[in-house]
Amino acid sequence: MNKPNLLILGGTTGATALARAVSDAGLSGVVSFAGRVERPVRQPLPQRVGGFGGVDGLAAYLRENAITHLIDATHPFAAQMSGNAIAAAASVRVPLIALTRAPWQAAPGDDWTHVPDIAGAVTALDGPRKRVMLAVGRMHLAEFAPNPQHFYLLRLVDPPQGALPLPDCQVEVSRGPFTAADDRALMERHGIELIVSKNAGGTGAVAKLQAARALGLPVVMIDRPAIPKRREAETVGDVMAWIAETSA
Ligand code: NAP
Repeated sequence: MNKPNLLILGGTTGATALARAVSDAGLSGVVSFAGRVERPVRQPLPQRVGGFGGVDGLAAYLRENAITHLIDATHPFAAQMSGNAIAAAASVRVPLIALTRAPWQAAPGDDWTHVPDIAGAVTALDGPRKRVMLAVGRMHLAEFAPNPQHFYLLRLVDPPQGALPLPDCQVEVSRGPFTAADDRALMERHGIELIVSKNAGGTGAVAKLQAARALGLPVVMIDRPAIPKRREAETVGDVMAWIAETSA
């Protein structure tokens, strides 16, 4: 095979770490962002921003840019992109691997209610007023509008543009990674009684769960969306080894 030329679907700390390893190894590649945040983390590789235009658009991109390896390092909740990557890679016969992280598991002392999706979290909040930390990202806030009775603490990467769909909320603008001590102080400052979290896994956002455990607070845990079967690796080293194997 020719020299590897990678497309890394990014938007996560894992993708940035992989881009660093790829750059350090002297390989060529591009990191792709959806364009959801105003200032994506600078990458040690060239970057592109914006959707590809579905499966066909991604397949065309892979072909036109002579991509030899597709690495899906998106967030575990980016199910649409991950599904498109599987279909596009198969259609143009470009090998694909996903850089994933194991889901978080409840530990002794945790009080988690599992829900299958965002709609399940909305239903779980259908009750008397509480002070809720809603850590689900900007794109899903409007879905919580049916429960306007709560106070919501929102942690967002960018300051919101325009009015928020929740009448009683406060925004904490921060990108992470977070520490358990800071998250505990944040929860105490806002009198938080309940945390809503996506089961992202990894270390960057686990602090809120550690803080919830320390404070004895319940968590509504949104389980991951299903993604069709694909090759997966949990470490940057394993992805690098796969690139080496499949380039030989
Ligand atoms: P999604 O629902 O799976 O994707 C929707 C569409 O956005 C895709 O079909 C694709 O458009 C475009 N897209 C998504 N990721 C892209 C990427 N890396 N490069 C180019 N286009 C991309 O994705 P999402 O949940 O909105 O997540 C968007 C991005 O934010 C991802 O890169 C993800 O890693 C990051 N992120 C997501 C979450 C989360 O909770 N979902 C959290 C942290 C970071 P086309 O069909 O036009 O190609």
